[in-house]
Amino acid sequence: MTARLLDGQALARQIQQEITPEVASFARRHGRPPGLAIVLVGHNPASEVYVRNKLKAGSDVGFRADLERLPETASIADVLALVERLNGSDAHDGILVQAPLPKTLGPEAASRVFDAIAPEKDVDGFTPVNVGRMVQGRPALVACTPSGILELLVREHIPLAGRRAAVIGRSDIVGKPMALLLLQRDATVTVCHSKTPDLPAVCREADVLVAAVGRAGLVTRAFVKPGATVVDVGMNTVTDAAAAAALFPDGHPKLVRFRERGSMLVGDVHPEVAEVAGALTPVPGGVGPLTVTMLMRNTLRAARGRLEGGWGQ
Ligand code: NAP
Repeated sequence: MTARLLDGQALARQIQQEITPEVASFARRHGRPPGLAIVLVGHNPASEVYVRNKLKAGSDVGFRADLERLPETASIADVLALVERLNGSDAHDGILVQAPLPKTLGPEAASRVFDAIAPEKDVDGFTPVNVGRMVQGRPALVACTPSGILELLVREHIPLAGRRAAVIGRSDIVGKPMALLLLQRDATVTVCHSKTPDLPAVCREADVLVAAVGRAGLVTRAFVKPGATVVDVGMNTVTDAAAAAALFPDGHPKLVRFRERGSMLVGDVHPEVAEVAGALTPVPGGVGPLTVTMLMRNTLRAARGRLEGGWGQ
């Protein structure tokens, strides 16, 4: 069997096309477009790239998309003051604080800063209010990566009700909300983590397997029930030649390119899984593009929620 590829890039483009006229219509109704503010503290190179992509995606769909920068030397009080100003801004419907925050801000910084974002502007869906509302199945702004995955599964007609699902990873931003969204779709969900014994056997029970771990090629064919749908959330940069050779056979174009460049981006799912799974998200081009698109959708929802009532509808 060769798994059908679930094309996140194509779906992301389609959703952007759906959002764009809605943004224009919002702007006509309210005399301004939805506004997204992205807070970037310091100069983390990966964050710079992510933020640039989000700002571009925002202006592509017609948002006002503003970058609010703070220097590496900013204090937690500076960050909280900026969030407070954006909470009160009429022009901004969505606020995103790019993680990770500089370590100098202290171990509690992320939760203090995320907790300070007004829940109705929390387009990342990280505040306790939005998480709590999602857990209760009430309208909420839901974390972008898991909501993008759900959108992909639904639009690709992957059956969820009554099926068994396994999620590897229990982070607040991917694993936990993913498990809840699958549960709300009436799947029977198992959440796995680093202490789960006999992980391959647990995962082999699943009709839908989501890997959100951060370990290149962890999910081998031994984890996958034949015909299952496998979603690969992992984004891992491999620089070790032996690790690359364990993923791709000699002569494979990706290995050839790795040997030229010295690094490659791979998921948590071993390429051999394509021979067993029924459907599979690629890396890159699977979950990643959907995450940014869901941020756009959340911003539009937040704008409507603020100006037209309702919450994250
Ligand atoms: P995280 O916070 O580091 O969580 C990783 C989870 O994996 C933890 O729950 C951990 O278990 C579990 N884990 C680690 N090693 C394991 C093992 N050997 N067996 C079973 N479980 C194991 O990571 P995250 O933020 O959820 O992200 C996960 C991956 O997704 C990363 O590669 C990240 O880059 C990627 N990601 C991609 C997108 C996207 O848009 N494509 C968005 C977000 C994240 P414990 O809880 O027991 O430690």
